[in-house]
Amino acid sequence: IVKYAGVTKSYGDLQVLKGIDLEMQPGEKVAVIGPSGSGKTTMGRMLMTLEEPTEGTIELDGELLWHMEEKGKLVRANEKHLHRMRCNVGMVFQHFNLFPHMNVLRNVTEAPRKVLGLSKEEAEERAVSMLGKVGLADKLKMHPSNLSGGQKQRVAIARALVMRPKVMVFDEVTSALDPELVGEVLEVIREIAEEGEMAMMLITHEMDFAKEIADRVIFGADGRIVEQGTPEEIFDHPKSERLQSFLQRFR
Ligand code: ATP
Repeated sequence: IVKYAGVTKSYGDLQVLKGIDLEMQPGEKVAVIGPSGSGKTTMGRMLMTLEEPTEGTIELDGELLWHMEEKGKLVRANEKHLHRMRCNVGMVFQHFNLFPHMNVLRNVTEAPRKVLGLSKEEAEERAVSMLGKVGLADKLKMHPSNLSGGQKQRVAIARALVMRPKVMVFDEVTSALDPELVGEVLEVIREIAEEGEMAMMLITHEMDFAKEIADRVIFGADGRIVEQGTPEEIFDHPKSERLQSFLQRFR
């Protein structure tokens, strides 16, 4: 469903990604781990079309994300193409990024109405069902400022899911939470993962969670994929010295 081919990314002189090749199968749960600054977030943001690759291509469901073919040549995608592709990916961020002036329900109905063109009733029906799923059916009229971090993050998850994306990117979604609120968010993600049909990229520092949820774990460092494998291979039998020393810090 997802294919990165030869993807690099530079910010000015800083090359953050140095050639990423990665394929994800439909429904596959891929955890991305690695040291801070290794480019994990950048990888996720590219799939969400928030960053453009410097080189290489990314495909989603057989179609190029950032490029289009024109007369047999690859050209930069126009806004219309990007817009259409963007609807297939949902992303949840470390810092929630909710709309502060909108209540919970509006936060979740905004995109289905504006982007998918659903009626208010249709959007609300979908949103209420999604908010029920993340355990917030009784918070529809609340504003984000009155919610706990865990509740905010669950709104953000509902907001992404309501678009029914083919792929979800979770970018360190528990890093900004108080420790006692981490569990409720991980539980929601676990439930979504168990439903199975959506591919998920989980960028995380929660090693136990990655081990439990992921079909495959990618270890990235210095802008490259250094090692990848099943959770058992990566966590119990790491091959590279780089991964071994990274994992030491979590023991
Ligand atoms: P972390 O675990 O700390 O979130 P990460 O592996 O997700 O790290 P990225 O957030 O992808 O890493 O960032 C990789 C590098 O790119 C960092 O050095 C960061 O400072 C730099 N970087 C990210 N975004 C930008 C930007 N818009 N402009 C300039 N540099 C950036």
